[in-house]
Amino acid sequence: MGCKVLIVEDEAAISMPLRDRLESEGYEVGVAGDGLQGFAKASTGEWDLLILDLMLPGRDGLEVCRDLRGKGITTPVLMLTARDQTVDKVLGLKIGADDYLTKPFEMIELLARVEALLRRRPGQTPNATLYPIGDYVLDIRKQLLRKGGETTELSTQEFKLLKYLCEHKGEVLDRDELLDAVWGYDEVPYTRTVDVHIAWLRQKLGDSKSQKLIITIRGRGYKLEG
Ligand code: CA
Repeated sequence: MGCKVLIVEDEAAISMPLRDRLESEGYEVGVAGDGLQGFAKASTGEWDLLILDLMLPGRDGLEVCRDLRGKGITTPVLMLTARDQTVDKVLGLKIGADDYLTKPFEMIELLARVEALLRRRPGQTPNATLYPIGDYVLDIRKQLLRKGGETTELSTQEFKLLKYLCEHKGEVLDRDELLDAVWGYDEVPYTRTVDVHIAWLRQKLGDSKSQKLIITIRGRGYKLEG
């Protein structure tokens, strides 16, 4: 039985393809077309995830989310926002949304965020197929890095290294741990190998002085953000 996802979205042009895609990925999907219906359906607490549009007739996404939290419903919420709606409106008001995505979005990015939210649930470790990294998505099945419609090839070691970083996002990982996890004890004796591969990954992720997804923690190792 797949995870149950409720889409609360008034635009059928968005909710229908979304439902089809999620169903094809094995999710069980429900759809509500306005805030009132959405709130009623979500209140049952039977869902594993809510995809909640911000601008809805009846009751907007902020109200729906806040009132659900008020009722003690803790289902993770992925909020859909339009380009001109600022992030702090969604997350800063502490209304209880767990993540947000700005429209228009790439389907692969939405799927990655859905998976990431489902992985966060206590006691849940579904097999990951997609990891969001900033604007990128690491596609585990295809061993590719995606951004929008574009893909970037990764070498086997780059892929293993980035996957390990994704699995331990936000944690500081030292070079020995990375060597061990990606190359194994016997294969490569130099911690410098890790640095070289990190540099290549940074290039592929477009890391620069102003935007860094892989952070160097001086004297300790590396950490993936985003
Ligand atoms: Ca809407």
